[in-house]
Amino acid sequence: ETLRQSALALAAVRHPDEAIERILAELERVVPYDSASVQRLEGTHLRIIGGRGFPNLEALIGVRFDLTRSDNPNRQVVRTRQPFIVDDAPQHYQEFSRRPHAEARIRAWLGVPMIVGDRLIGMIALDKREAGFYTAEHARLAEAFAAQAAIALENARLYQAEREQRGLAEALAQAAAVVGSTLDLDQVLDLILDQVQRVVHGDTFNIMLVEGTQARIVRALGYEKVLSEPIAVGEKATPIDLFPTLREMIQRGTAICIPDTASDPRWVTLPGRDWQRAYVGAPIRIRGKTVGFLNVNGQRVGQFNLQDARRLQAFADHVATALENARLYRELERHAEELEARVAARTAELEAERARLEAILDNTGDGIVVTDAQGTITRTNRVAERWLEHDLNPEDAATLRQAIAKCVRHHADERSSIMIELSGLDLELVAAPIASPEGQGNGNAVVAIHDITHLRALDRMKTKFISNVSHELRTPATSILLYTHLLRTGQQEKAQTYLDALEQEAQHQARLIESILELSRIDAGRLDLSLQVVALNRVVAEAVAAQQQVAILHGVSLKFKPYEPSPQVNVDTQRLRQVIDNLLGNALRYTPKGGQVTVSTDRARAEGRHWATVTVRDTGIGIPEHELPHIFERFYRGETPQRQQISGTGLGLPIARELIEMHGGRITVESREGEGSAFTVWLPLESAEPASG
Ligand code: ADP
Repeated sequence: ETLRQSALALAAVRHPDEAIERILAELERVVPYDSASVQRLEGTHLRIIGGRGFPNLEALIGVRFDLTRSDNPNRQVVRTRQPFIVDDAPQHYQEFSRRPHAEARIRAWLGVPMIVGDRLIGMIALDKREAGFYTAEHARLAEAFAAQAAIALENARLYQAEREQRGLAEALAQAAAVVGSTLDLDQVLDLILDQVQRVVHGDTFNIMLVEGTQARIVRALGYEKVLSEPIAVGEKATPIDLFPTLREMIQRGTAICIPDTASDPRWVTLPGRDWQRAYVGAPIRIRGKTVGFLNVNGQRVGQFNLQDARRLQAFADHVATALENARLYRELERHAEELEARVAARTAELEAERARLEAILDNTGDGIVVTDAQGTITRTNRVAERWLEHDLNPEDAATLRQAIAKCVRHHADERSSIMIELSGLDLELVAAPIASPEGQGNGNAVVAIHDITHLRALDRMKTKFISNVSHELRTPATSILLYTHLLRTGQQEKAQTYLDALEQEAQHQARLIESILELSRIDAGRLDLSLQVVALNRVVAEAVAAQQQVAILHGVSLKFKPYEPSPQVNVDTQRLRQVIDNLLGNALRYTPKGGQVTVSTDRARAEGRHWATVTVRDTGIGIPEHELPHIFERFYRGETPQRQQISGTGLGLPIARELIEMHGGRITVESREGEGSAFTVWLPLESAEPASG
């Protein structure tokens, strides 16, 4: 009945350690003992895996009996698979007198085998301090009990093994799931650390990553239970060479187990780490290369065995892929980031360049358009856009578009230019193909549109100038030819008149030529002024005096009203005289008989400055309002003078204005048709006037 109850009790046990406890407890109810132990068969040894009643149980656990030696009775049980009774053990076997067995003071000994099926898995030893205690009856009961105990133990072991196997399978499956679940390296490391606890029952765990010849702890777990300070994770890398365990894992490529760190020469005890009594570690390998380590430490000697090492290795092999993928991904990411940064930098560069180009294009006075091969506009700068969209009337805009297309189409491969004349706008178009980076044209072209209105105006002026000059020169030349002919063939008594006329024409021509040369000198900047400070009144008085005779001849009164004291001016006297002569000459010529010409000097303030002025006022024909803007243009002559055949070149006023502007002054005019004109020369007043004034 006791056996049956024991069997039932044992059957419920799931954990091997617990099973041993229960076996020994139940055994006591079946067969009396002072101390008893459960021993497991490991090859040629028996190892004590559990005990009860010993004063030094701690010391006995793990102790082995060598079955090849004859100093113990255990071998007898293993060999015969039968119970074996020893009446006074120390007498026959020295082992019992030796530590750690001596402490139990064993006399009577009974050994029974534990057999499952036909497999011997170990034995149970019962001890009594009383010699000759055990009987054959005890032996039979113990044997029967041991048979049940063996099954219970094996069941528990199998259950445990299966559970562990299941745990491992689960951990491995989860480790594999990690592979697919994330590419985030941090997350992968966290998950590995999380899973490794389920694979090996250690106290502290860490993950190291290999960096060249060094390894760095990147994750750690459980250290807070054994260390006062948290372990430094990720801080400093350690040379792999310093640790034989790491070296060996790299070399052998497989996990190692150190059940007892104290007795293993490979173990390096770091300061403050003497709690590390057992170790199991596995290399994380990718294609034969160790990229990291899984390290597990235990506080108990014998905490790990080879199976733990195998499990850890299996796990390490599983997570290696996840780790490698995450590492590759991080590298890829970093690379992508780098690439992105480079692209961003380059984009900014290009953007800046584009903005610069745009600024240049927009701020150039030229219009610039880009077209496709057909000459259709694809881009315009601000100037071109203004012309095409706003300034030009629709017809002109269309003309410009056609001109652009024509320019591009007809000369697709070379630079080409055409000119168009719009209302009030002369444009020159220059097209050039856009070369692609490969040096090949893609048909696109850029067309620069120059506003050449000003140039064309100058050009027209030049043309007009030349035709005017030719015309003006031809007129006196014709007259000269006429008078020489008359001299040769006409009446002798008129010779004097002809000669006078001849001289007049020649003089006119000389004046004209002189004027033209003068203008061209001014234009070329070759006219130098020799400045000196003079009394303005003196220069004007001399000019008036010189023309007095002419005035009388014209029947025009000529007066001078000087401002006193005379304003001082810094001028080229000869040039100033030339200007006054010209204005005076015009006044006399354009004032009919009986009129008056008054010349006056004055001082004036304008534009915040002091001026000396000379005004030539006449009561002549005057200038129509619409002609006023033109009278300073070269070769411009009023309608009335031309109609009335008043001789002139149309160059007097332009030259006068140039000369006065060279002095920093200006000429203004007020006139009314049929009433008279007043021309005023403004010259900067010389402040350093003589004290006498
Ligand atoms: P020119 O007198 O030889 O024709 P200018 O350049 O001196 O050439 O003058 C240009 C035009 O200005 C003249 O043709 C005339 O129409 C007008 N003009 C100049 N001075 C006077 C004036 N005092 N009275 C009326 N018209 C004048």
